[in-house]
Amino acid sequence: MEPALTDVLMKAEHVKVYFKGKRRRDLPVKAVDDVSFHIIKGETFGVVGESGCGKSTLGRTLIRLLTPTEGHIYLDGTDIAGLKGAELKEMRKKAQIIFQDPSACLNPRRTIREILMEPFEIHQMKGEIDVEARILELLKLVGLDEYHLSRYPHELSGGQKQRIGIARALALKPDIIICDEAVSALDVSVQAQVLNLLQELKQKLKLTYFFISHNLNVVYQVSDRVGVMYLGKMVEIAAYDQLYEKRYHPYTEALLSAIPKVGKEAGAERIHLEGEVPSPSNPPSGCRFHTRCKKACERCTQEIPELKEIEPGHFVACHLY
Ligand code: SF4
Repeated sequence: MEPALTDVLMKAEHVKVYFKGKRRRDLPVKAVDDVSFHIIKGETFGVVGESGCGKSTLGRTLIRLLTPTEGHIYLDGTDIAGLKGAELKEMRKKAQIIFQDPSACLNPRRTIREILMEPFEIHQMKGEIDVEARILELLKLVGLDEYHLSRYPHELSGGQKQRIGIARALALKPDIIICDEAVSALDVSVQAQVLNLLQELKQKLKLTYFFISHNLNVVYQVSDRVGVMYLGKMVEIAAYDQLYEKRYHPYTEALLSAIPKVGKEAGAERIHLEGEVPSPSNPPSGCRFHTRCKKACERCTQEIPELKEIEPGHFVACHLY
């Protein structure tokens, strides 16, 4: 079921992101390969998949930190896939990212005040708005105090640093934020606090998140809809509760069997995937999952399954459906 166009904030159409191969330059690494989906305003679209499935590359491409090799990315109706220069810079106000490791992305030589000042300097907004007031507002939003402004990143805890990362992402009032493993580097208790903060901010500021995590529990906790990626392809997309009730793709089934269950599913057997994830520079023919799929048949080795809507809002790429 197609959502109303006014509800769609971002739409990816046949997006491919290929990199030059390190060993064999004639074999590109197909990190993201023909991916299409949409993100609805105000939702958290979670993405799961094993390491190397292309989820971070896709996230970075959606906000044009990377340029797609092919395809279109519409943000509020404008195709941003080919934007350059001033137009690209202007677009960046609407789409921001929170990275995994807050220590690595905060300049250790700058105070928190200087770090939070950066977005306004880059976009030459210092004369346009009361930056000092906005910085105080940002600090309050993420639960920190004015005295933190004179501190350096190494004087803050991991959770406080990630709060600064969030404040910086919010500075220009974006519509969409890519959360790229945003809580993965934090202790479990701090993870919960930062996840709660992200949820509160989403409600308060009417944000939309593209939430990437290798941690299925985390993605399940925060997402309205979930996309499952395997080797550069989106193989299943559904609302959180649809997917919890019924997953169709054999890869999703295996992946989600790792989440501890409650109720009638408690004690359900974990499905162990055999074999390694194949190389994205030389992916298997047909369905990319066929080398590890217990349900594979002849057709699966030859024909690429399309992502089809098999129930309202539930999309699956598998020849079984
Ligand atoms: Fe398995 Fe075939 Fe479905 Fe791929 S298309 S997931 S190989 S059954």
